[in-house]
Amino acid sequence: MLKLRERNVWLGRAAADKAEAIRTVGRAMVESGFIEPGYIDSMLQREQVAATYLGSGIAIPHGLPAARHLVRATGIVVVQFPDGVAWADGERARVAVGIAARSDEHLQVLANLTGVLGDASAAARLARTSDPGEVIAALNGGASAPAAPQAVVPGGGTSIEVRSPSPHGLHARPATALVEVAKRFRAEIAVRHGEKTANGKSLVALLGLGAVAGARLTVSAAGDDAAAALAALDAAFAGGLGEAAAPQAPQAAPARPDRAPAAHDRAPAAAPLDYEGRVVAGISASPGLVEGPAWAFQRERVTVAETAADPAVQRRRLDQGLAGAAADLRQLHDELSKKAGAAKAAIFKAHLELLEDPDLVAAAHDQVDAGHSAGWAWRKVYEERAEGLARLDDPLLAARAADLRDVGRRVLRLLADSIESAASLPSHPVVLLADDLSPSDTAKLDPKQVLGLCTAVGGATSHTAIIARSLDIPAVVAAGPAALDVEDGQACILDGDAGVLVVRPTPRDRARAEVRRGQVLERREAERLDRYKPAITRDGRRVEVVANIGAPGEAQQAVDAGGEGVGLMRTEFLFLKRESPPSEDEQAEAYTTMVRALNGLPIILRTLDIGGDKHVPYLSMPAEGNPFLGVRGVRLCLERLDLFRTQLRAIFRASREGPVRLMYPMISTVEELAKAMAFTEEVRREIGADPIEIGIMIEVPSAVMIADRLAREVSFFSIGTNDLTQYVLAMDRQHPTLASQADGLHPAVLRMIERTAAAAREAGIWVGACGGVAGDPAGTVVLAGLGLVELSVSIPSIAATKALLRGITMEGAEDIARRALACGTAAEVRALVQGAQGVAA
Ligand code: PEP
Ligand code: MG
Repeated sequence: MLKLRERNVWLGRAAADKAEAIRTVGRAMVESGFIEPGYIDSMLQREQVAATYLGSGIAIPHGLPAARHLVRATGIVVVQFPDGVAWADGERARVAVGIAARSDEHLQVLANLTGVLGDASAAARLARTSDPGEVIAALNGGASAPAAPQAVVPGGGTSIEVRSPSPHGLHARPATALVEVAKRFRAEIAVRHGEKTANGKSLVALLGLGAVAGARLTVSAAGDDAAAALAALDAAFAGGLGEAAAPQAPQAAPARPDRAPAAHDRAPAAAPLDYEGRVVAGISASPGLVEGPAWAFQRERVTVAETAADPAVQRRRLDQGLAGAAADLRQLHDELSKKAGAAKAAIFKAHLELLEDPDLVAAAHDQVDAGHSAGWAWRKVYEERAEGLARLDDPLLAARAADLRDVGRRVLRLLADSIESAASLPSHPVVLLADDLSPSDTAKLDPKQVLGLCTAVGGATSHTAIIARSLDIPAVVAAGPAALDVEDGQACILDGDAGVLVVRPTPRDRARAEVRRGQVLERREAERLDRYKPAITRDGRRVEVVANIGAPGEAQQAVDAGGEGVGLMRTEFLFLKRESPPSEDEQAEAYTTMVRALNGLPIILRTLDIGGDKHVPYLSMPAEGNPFLGVRGVRLCLERLDLFRTQLRAIFRASREGPVRLMYPMISTVEELAKAMAFTEEVRREIGADPIEIGIMIEVPSAVMIADRLAREVSFFSIGTNDLTQYVLAMDRQHPTLASQADGLHPAVLRMIERTAAAAREAGIWVGACGGVAGDPAGTVVLAGLGLVELSVSIPSIAATKALLRGITMEGAEDIARRALACGTAAEVRALVQGAQGVAA
């Protein structure tokens, strides 16, 4: 455990500005032997990305991960600037805690720091003290003390005695369940274990109790509803806080309908953080935790003149705009009422009410009378009102702000001088917020400028989420309209692991996020160093870990990330972001580039999977009411043989350069497969290329049920769990509310996978998986245990997936898979995998 020492504490310093202060902190770190002098530049650069000011006069300067080689040893220094130094947004830092991290030894010191942050007087004392011992005592603290403030139930409270739940004590999941119950009550709730007392509403504090299974706990409550709170808590403990009695009994595990599955390639390695800022909950779509200013993505830019000559004309324009928008809303309301019922259409009624608000209209008229154009006047008024609403604490009223902006924009478009349809992209690092992003919008994002993204709608296995993962952009989807109700520039944390956007994070939120980020970086670094080692389980069974890619340049990235080939190249991505389809030569060049980059490693080129959520406007396909059940994937290719032929020719040309395999998506019948194979053979002969291995995606339930028949025709199967899940559970993979339940670890999906694997075994062909579940740690274990020999995952997940497989035994994975098949729900499967010692991350 790292300890702060007297020589690491510099008191009573002064600095003219932040740069000078950081150089002083850097000098202290150099003199302590923690860093090379070159690291100081990286500390200065870090501040450009995001200021390290935490709050309460405390900043934590440190370098960028790329400069980690300049860190000699993990260590912390504290430099006090009693007069303060301007650090960020008008905030002055008086205590700078310099961090050099090679490992996670410093995290406890940072965790102790979060305790100081929550206590303004303690922070002020640190800024003034002339006794280094006081700083050391505050930051070294108790090694296992919880970081959160401890709740002391005032006298008069009642208490109950309970036991910490089995089988693993008060760890993250049961503690979360406890917090959820506690938060339903106004009473202050404290949980005592031995000498330690924790706030019953703070996950971090509860975890800090270190209560093992069966430990005696005293739960106290004080407040007007204390008795009810204790009764509910007593019942929750009696029910095991949602824990199975033992991992062998998954049927007792909790369902957590409130928490979306981590339906992406890496689940959080630790308990979700218990944020204090405004939490907007969505679905976890791409992992990672970032902090940055909010930035609203607009697909169009509306321009309005500020002033106008004739107020009477502008008044008329404004009234016409309002009337036009009202007519649109009435029509939308009537159409939706007919299709989906009055309840669903009610939102448009509510929008109409906002439009007819007399105060709003009168305020806009006043602006017009003062010489402004109708558009400018209207925008000023509705934006001001929306901001006012958003500032209110009441979440219901805050949600009205999003409605008002929506209605406001509807009118504004009618009053615009011009509307540019080009999507605006950020020019500085931001957390991007959008109603929805199409796969093409997402593909245009620059990961350097988009630190994270959050959409109001969408699903975790939608192609937008898939692209975000491949770009390593943390993402939250399906967060609802509240995600749009954030002012541009507002500080946010985007926690892709937990699936939440945190607006206006508190200093403590930011400190904890920083600690978590450090942990993740350390773990990733260790995995990265071992990325070229094969994934061989502890009992000697190998699973191939290959990459899902979508662009020619990604083949080299896949190899560099430790990929043992490409298990899925989504060729349709070459067709997005363009005005016409790529020619045969263009495609041949793209595929050849990939084959060459792989230098002898295999690549599976999947033929076009256009349709569903991958819309390619220039193909002019007729709109379909239910595109996921329409002309999609191989069905489209069989209708558009011109496209299919061009692609197959290009693939056969590239196959001369190295081991290329061909795969058809969306096969649902024997006839489709036969037609596709016959056409492929015709094209092969035309080109004069050698035969190549042909496989199919298994992603439609009918294909599973006739897998034995299909297996006779092909060389391999690759299971597309993203689509298989949506079709088996009948839940659209991008549905804003259903997608959170569409978990690929649902036993119904697992049984389909099991059946597919059995058919493949019987026919003597190999079977892998390329859906998101393959790279989700629990999914990796279960799919390996079900007999899949190849897992194709997003590039950023390759090293982690290999590391996980190296840490387990196949025998254990097979045992888990068998038990998973007997579960009733996806939550039970996840609980089962997590409960299995030494298997999951
Ligand atoms: C799948 O469906 O799981 C799959 C890998 O294909 P896509 O996500 O491109 O539909
Ligand atoms: Mg699919």
